[in-house]
Amino acid sequence: MKREFDILIVGGGLVGAALAASLRDTTFEIGLIEGKPPAQSWPEEEWDSRVYAISRASRRLLQDIGAWQRLDTARLGPVAAMQIYGDDSRNALAFDALEAGVDDLAVILESRQLQAALWQSAGDAPNVSLIAPARPVSFSQHAEGATVVLDNGDELHARLVVGADGAQSWLRQQAGITTRSEPYQQWGVVANFTIERPHLGVARQWFFDDGVLAWLPLAGQRVSIVWSCGEAQKDELLALSPEQLAVRVADAGGNLLGRFSTITPAAAFPLRLTHVDELIKAGVALVGDAAHTVHPLAGQGVNLGFGDVAELARLLKAEHPGRCGDYLVLRRYERARRESIYLMQGVCHGLQKLFNNSNPWLKSLRNFGLGLTDGLPWLKQQLIRHAMDH
Ligand SMILES: Cc1cc2nc3c(=O)[nH]c(=O)nc-3n(C[C@H](O)[C@H](O)[C@H](O)COP(=O)(O)OP(=O)(O)OC[C@H]3O[C@@H](n4cnc5c(N)ncnc54)[C@H](O)[C@@H]3O)c2cc1C
Repeated sequence: MKREFDILIVGGGLVGAALAASLRDTTFEIGLIEGKPPAQSWPEEEWDSRVYAISRASRRLLQDIGAWQRLDTARLGPVAAMQIYGDDSRNALAFDALEAGVDDLAVILESRQLQAALWQSAGDAPNVSLIAPARPVSFSQHAEGATVVLDNGDELHARLVVGADGAQSWLRQQAGITTRSEPYQQWGVVANFTIERPHLGVARQWFFDDGVLAWLPLAGQRVSIVWSCGEAQKDELLALSPEQLAVRVADAGGNLLGRFSTITPAAAFPLRLTHVDELIKAGVALVGDAAHTVHPLAGQGVNLGFGDVAELARLLKAEHPGRCGDYLVLRRYERARRESIYLMQGVCHGLQKLFNNSNPWLKSLRNFGLGLTDGLPWLKQQLIRHAMDH
């Protein structure tokens, strides 16, 4: 079957589905192609070990596109404060929502809940066709746009094809967009726990010289962790029994919240930095992890992707549908996003290198830096505003 679209989005993960939902109520005909449609329900007592710290800027986007309103508020974990510790416990950096004049700094939520909400928002839009499960098998460009052939033989034509198909993006390869990628030789180990003492909405993060551990406040008396560590430590954590893992994670954070009990077993994700040489080509644009990956220590990967969505949707809405694949329009998108992407990649990369280092001079410097920053209210305000609004 042959079908015509204005915009085809390859990949209906968080970022691709958010882009489709952002373009509802427009005259664009949108096709959203996804290999694995997301689950829409799960047992209430289960907690997804993939969680995100959603910034205030991302929340505004999710509200605007009608996804935030679909979330179960009983499963959201507002972050009232953040405490960051170096490997010398005398120096810490603290951020507080009250100090910043806001109700919360971010909200911790489960990936699958957000994914289901975004999928519903995109699916409810009359101009969005959910094409799933389906995978593209070929991509070709021509004067009027591009053609994508699916694994069921369907031939889809569009003026613009957006790659939202994650870090290993198939579309990016088909479009000949090259990348520079650097593995961190680290893994992100995630798991969920119930805790003995209330977390009071405080997110905590420890920078050790062999990794970074974050305790993120989930709804109720629960936390989710991301432990960025080397391969040997990842193997060791994954081999622990649930009881041993709970003791290990509680100990690593100085038992600040009392005893832990594992509720979602550990899973691990390889971490890598990816720069793409171009965000766009004529008729092609990249968003989300297809366009950049960052170290998760600042919890900003998907927030950066939602920033891409907000900008691309804003520019496309201002154009006549016939011009949506136009190189000059897409160049504006690339120019608008480059700085934010480089800045976030640079900050996360720099912190990772500064802390993942046992040089004694660097160790003193980084601990001194945490204490110094904590004593400078103006600098803290700037850091907090940046993290909340991107
Ligand atoms: C351990 C860890 C913790 C993290 N914590 C945070 C955090 O707290 N906050 C934050 O902002 N970010 C965080 N991130 C980053 C975040 O996970 C990613 O930035 C985000 O998932 C990217 O979303 P995406 O939609 O761009 O890509 P993906 O989530 O990879 O989605 C891509 C989608 O495309 C589909 N797809 C792929 N190829 C094809 C194809 N050929 N055809 C059809 N469909 C296809 C896939 O099935 C998938 O649904 C973390 C990452 C890690 C590893």
